[in-house]
Amino acid sequence: MAKVVYNDQIQEDVLKGKKIAIIGYGSQGHAHALNLKESGFDVVVGLRKGKSWDQAYEDGLDVKTVAEASKEADVIMILLPDENQPQVYKESIEANLEEGNALVFAHGFNIHYSQITPPENVDVFLVAPKGPGHLVRRTFEEGAGVPALYGIYQDYTGNARELALAYAKGVGAGRAGILETTFQEETETDLFGEQAVLCGGATSLVKAGFETLVEAGYQPEVAYFECLHELKLIVDLMYESGLEGMRYSISDTAQWGDFVSGPRVINDETKARMKDVLTDIQTGKFAKDWILENQANRPQFNAINQAEKNHLIEKVGRELRDLMPFVKQRANAKKEVVSD
Ligand code: NDP
Ligand code: MG
Ligand code: MG
Repeated sequence: MAKVVYNDQIQEDVLKGKKIAIIGYGSQGHAHALNLKESGFDVVVGLRKGKSWDQAYEDGLDVKTVAEASKEADVIMILLPDENQPQVYKESIEANLEEGNALVFAHGFNIHYSQITPPENVDVFLVAPKGPGHLVRRTFEEGAGVPALYGIYQDYTGNARELALAYAKGVGAGRAGILETTFQEETETDLFGEQAVLCGGATSLVKAGFETLVEAGYQPEVAYFECLHELKLIVDLMYESGLEGMRYSISDTAQWGDFVSGPRVINDETKARMKDVLTDIQTGKFAKDWILENQANRPQFNAINQAEKNHLIEKVGRELRDLMPFVKQRANAKKEVVSD
């Protein structure tokens, strides 16, 4: 079992007096910047002119260009979209790194897949809250925190672990618990989780169930409720009390169906496919394909995205959600989801 570290085991003095640059002010960036500032640390936000710049300024933060913020900071946390990080790093951060600085990430992708190669004379570590930025901020304001993972890639100063823990404490994670990981483990499990289970697995399961009912002649609206809408109720129960707690709340008929039919749908064959997905992540094939897709301006990504928007489940869903004003629309809050 993993070892969990809490606030009282963390010395934040190593980070006091250092300047922390938060590069990016999106989902994670705003939460890290504001939480660290309110924890008493010296924070500067690095951005380009635009929406985030105005927001960070309005929130009372010191805002500079990425290059300026990186230059004056001792600790540089990169909270840009993963696809943009290599270019911004090359253009505005690399030349501003000084010996003994710390380069920090909230996801290991670019280091693990060698899209960013830091110099040898800086610390490189990871502090990854296990929740979306808005939850990281809200729980902090409530006096609590979201658990985080930390991992060390390069310990030049000999203080990387203490710095990582102090940073995690500053964003509030030490109130919940901080677990040690590696860049490899964080990156590969994060990608696998979102592909096989949370995003890819769940959307494919929902669509397959919906299509099965509709193709058998049932009304799409009814199929939508059964295969998509109600999923939230089940997931909430699992989130609160695990599979056992969820099964306690459903009917015995539903539980019996869970036991006998679940393994007919998700079986050894499915697990073999999951293993293929994991292999592509471990060998770097997935990362390579995604990097090339971005370099080509996302032809497949955009085509699939368009086709998915036109799926019957989406048309029916848009109409049904209009009937349910209590279902909060999140059209403009795409980052408020479980994964990045
Ligand atoms: P967002 O997409 O929410 O935010 C991106 C920010 O980067 C915006 O402020 C944007 O500003 C800025 N930005 C984008 N391009 C540039 C550029 N070229 N120059 C300067 N600023 C730029 O990112 P996330 O918070 O989702 O992700 C950040 C990191 O955190 C990633 O590594 C991700 O994997 C990780 N992470 C994310 C989680 C999440 O819940 N979202 C959870 C755990 C980790 P502008 O307004 O100018 O576009
Ligand atoms: Mg039912
Ligand atoms: Mg992810």
